[in-house]
Amino acid sequence: MKLLRYGPKGKEKPGLLDKDGRIRDLSAHVGDLAGDSVAIKAIEKLRAIDPASLPVVEGNPRIGPCLATVPNFHCVGLNYTKHAQESNLPVPTEPVLFSKATSAISGPYDKVIIPKGSEKTDWEVELGIVIGKHAEHVSEADALSYVTGYCTINDLSERAFQIEMGGQWVKGKSAPTFGPIGPWLVTADEVPDPQKLRLWLSVNGKVLQDSNTSDMIFGVATIVSYMSRFMALLPGDIISTGTPSGVGLGMKPQRYLKPGDVMELEIEKLGRQRQETVAYPG
Ligand code: ZN
Repeated sequence: MKLLRYGPKGKEKPGLLDKDGRIRDLSAHVGDLAGDSVAIKAIEKLRAIDPASLPVVEGNPRIGPCLATVPNFHCVGLNYTKHAQESNLPVPTEPVLFSKATSAISGPYDKVIIPKGSEKTDWEVELGIVIGKHAEHVSEADALSYVTGYCTINDLSERAFQIEMGGQWVKGKSAPTFGPIGPWLVTADEVPDPQKLRLWLSVNGKVLQDSNTSDMIFGVATIVSYMSRFMALLPGDIISTGTPSGVGLGMKPQRYLKPGDVMELEIEKLGRQRQETVAYPG
């Protein structure tokens, strides 16, 4: 299933994409897509509904972030060898973890606001994992059974805030609109192998990142198992799994986003995003 949220900002309704690409309204069956309502058990109930029985949403509504209230937005850093190299950082021997403020989350086609004072706003296409069951100390063998689905993420990053202003990376990852997620939460049954997905990102039509999740240093099962040793992962939590090479930080000379730039990014099976950047208002 491809689950989504549609409507004006703050007033989104839950929906699903049917096989003909039409949005069907799910609001009679679920309040919103968040936390326990995207748990694996809850998704099974939604799966039992015949999409043809749901009202078709007419017109072209805005598509919002595919999850509403997100308990935790976790991220893995330096998870592709060439990206670690372009960042001039050692290839990690254990997953590097950091977090992103959940207030950074925005819709897949919403404008991205370059933060006040920013000169180094950068892009990062990433596979997002959405957790579907309380996970503590799960084995790698069982880890994928804790995943409810996947989504496309742009892990926008302000490199000066991230790197030049002391720890931690969260400072450079958390500005409002720095976390477009979606367009869909694609349930795990549609992604039998999360390590076989092409992912790419372009700026103003030029492809700058183009890789495959098979290039990850630590795969989805390893990440979920590893993280669950240190914290409880909760239904509705997002884990962004790191970006391949081709970010602005790694270009010679470095190249960062200016107002009016357009990013497009896509992960195989998970859908495409498009964002235009705008200056901070005022
Ligand atoms: Zn990232």
